[in-house]
Amino acid sequence: MQDIARTVAVLATGGTIAGTAARATDNIGYSAAQLGVRALVDAVPALAEVPLVTEQVAQLDSKDMDFAVWEALAARVAHHLAKPDVAGVVITHGTDTLEETAYLLQRLLAPTKPVVMCAAMRPATALLRDGPQNLLDAVTLARQPGARGVMAALSGTVHSAFDVRKVHSYRVDAFGSGDAGVLARIEEGEVRRLREWPAGEPLGLELAGRTDWPWVEIVTSHAGARPDGVRALAAAGVRGLVVAGTGNGSLHHALEDALVEAQKAGVTVWRSTRCLDGPVQMKPGDRLPSAGTLTPVQARIELMLQLMRA
Ligand code: ASP
Repeated sequence: MQDIARTVAVLATGGTIAGTAARATDNIGYSAAQLGVRALVDAVPALAEVPLVTEQVAQLDSKDMDFAVWEALAARVAHHLAKPDVAGVVITHGTDTLEETAYLLQRLLAPTKPVVMCAAMRPATALLRDGPQNLLDAVTLARQPGARGVMAALSGTVHSAFDVRKVHSYRVDAFGSGDAGVLARIEEGEVRRLREWPAGEPLGLELAGRTDWPWVEIVTSHAGARPDGVRALAAAGVRGLVVAGTGNGSLHHALEDALVEAQKAGVTVWRSTRCLDGPVQMKPGDRLPSAGTLTPVQARIELMLQLMRA
């Protein structure tokens, strides 16, 4: 019972969950990031019974996520997690870059309490809005005894920060966990866990006030790929490149030659795959290292963090 009485910190950053449209039938022509955190909470009557603290950390469409918001968010999450009366943190966020923020926070903080990302595919004005149920589920998970790590709670499904990815541009059930499979389900306020909570060691990197986020770009291998883009990036001072290769990280020969040239010139180059699921497995003769099971956007964040630590 004691756990159930504990506080959840709800940190808002914007997104469609806080979006509004002129008509209830309009699911795409809305403006994201319009409603404040209190309005989101007040739309869920069941939350009136739960001790919450709320904070508006940012108010943006997550397609525009940037390093300053990440720094502020990481600091506020750490601040709330450190309070003994806080059971967990919920972050309302846009769906577009949710997987990036989730991965970043997990790697930075590796929290021993739950940090639950929450979003919506329909604006708050929609006939069939998904935000309120997702928020209620996220708060439920944030108060779940024993839960830990950064997760996302969407459409009754819980994904680990290590696996979550947006897999659909429109469907309400828009997220997947790839090969790993979902972490848990939330049904009628009950969390049904299917595998272990996300765990790890915090990186111990201090982001506050950092102006030196390394420049890392993602390039894609495809038919007719040209070397020019990679050469231009290297000449412009890029520090790292993640290439989304075909299949098992294979690369068009023209692109691969340019990437190997960039690597020789001091750019860190990692190979991932443009396939939705699956790792890049190294084999004899490979000239560029694999990003393992990381998706291209996760690999980009991992590479930025590693370059910051170097
Ligand atoms: N563009 C919106 C965002 O990421 C999409 C969403 O939240 O579903 O903020």
